Amino acid sequence: MSLDHDERYSRQILFRGIGVEGQKRLASARVAVVGCGATGSAVSALLARAGVGTIRIVDRDYVEPSNLQRQTLFDEVDARESLPKAIAAARRVAAFNSQIVVEPEVADLTPENIESLLEGAQLILDGTDNFETRYLVNDYAVKADVPWIYAAAVGGYGATLNVVPGTTACLACIFPDLPTGMVETCETAGVLNPAVNLVASIEAAEALKFLVGATENIRRTLLSWDVWTNEHAEIQAGKPRADCRACGEHDFIHLEGKGRPHITLCGRNSVQIHERHRPVDFGEMSERLKPHGAVRHNGFVLKFWREPYEMTLFSDGRAIIKGTTDTGVARSLYARFVGS
Ligand SMILES: [Zn+2]
Repeated sequence: MSLDHDERYSRQILFRGIGVEGQKRLASARVAVVGCGATGSAVSALLARAGVGTIRIVDRDYVEPSNLQRQTLFDEVDARESLPKAIAAARRVAAFNSQIVVEPEVADLTPENIESLLEGAQLILDGTDNFETRYLVNDYAVKADVPWIYAAAVGGYGATLNVVPGTTACLACIFPDLPTGMVETCETAGVLNPAVNLVASIEAAEALKFLVGATENIRRTLLSWDVWTNEHAEIQAGKPRADCRACGEHDFIHLEGKGRPHITLCGRNSVQIHERHRPVDFGEMSERLKPHGAVRHNGFVLKFWREPYEMTLFSDGRAIIKGTTDTGVARSLYARFVGS
């Protein structure tokens, strides 16, 4: 079945801010979504339905049952199979819009791969759950002069900010340093799906404005909203600060990868290991692990259970070890069973 392009997008073409010309611009647009959890799912789905021509989805994680409450691109089968989120997202989008291209990338965004993963994107959308990655994206965006949209949700609260390098304040202008001390995460405070969808909707609307060139309508504030308490605020984002480490001084510490720790994922008790960079043969690895615990694999991931740990191994050698937040424990488990 081939759907008529104009018919599919007719309600959006009727909208004055988009029109025929805007729809054409969307069709030729190329964006990257970094992280495909709850906000990443929602923003990817909205932009895919709106007809954004190419969407690269970068995600390091796999689908689990606890994701289904808010991560709208995934279903129970994806969770049972532990499908990588980028792969599951691409499949789901293809089912409702086969006329656009989704490029799934099962990878952790790092200083080493960020250029190749985000190259060519005219806009970067935040779907991550952690500040390390956001500061990395901010450094890249400022250096490469590519706009990006920050979006975050935790508890009943969501916040979003447009960053247009050279024109508006960047993330580091507003928050010069990574938050320290106790930071609420989805793991400690939970998260409501309307909070996620609120910020993802605003993020998608701002993305549409960028992509059709409606620059005069682009919001220039840090917007926050708590859907539970009804508290909301807008802070002027203003101009880039001359003394900003990223915009002003061009000191891209995150892009240089200084002091990057092992990453503990949001949403569960787990550690990611990505020290080994050679492909894993899942068949061979399965045989090797069988005597030591339960093991199962599909084309994308291998899962290995050894109480109290659960290891998920990706084909590039990266692993997520669940059941600990101790990087030493995770590393030794990996070295023992996968090899170094
Ligand atoms: Zn700045």
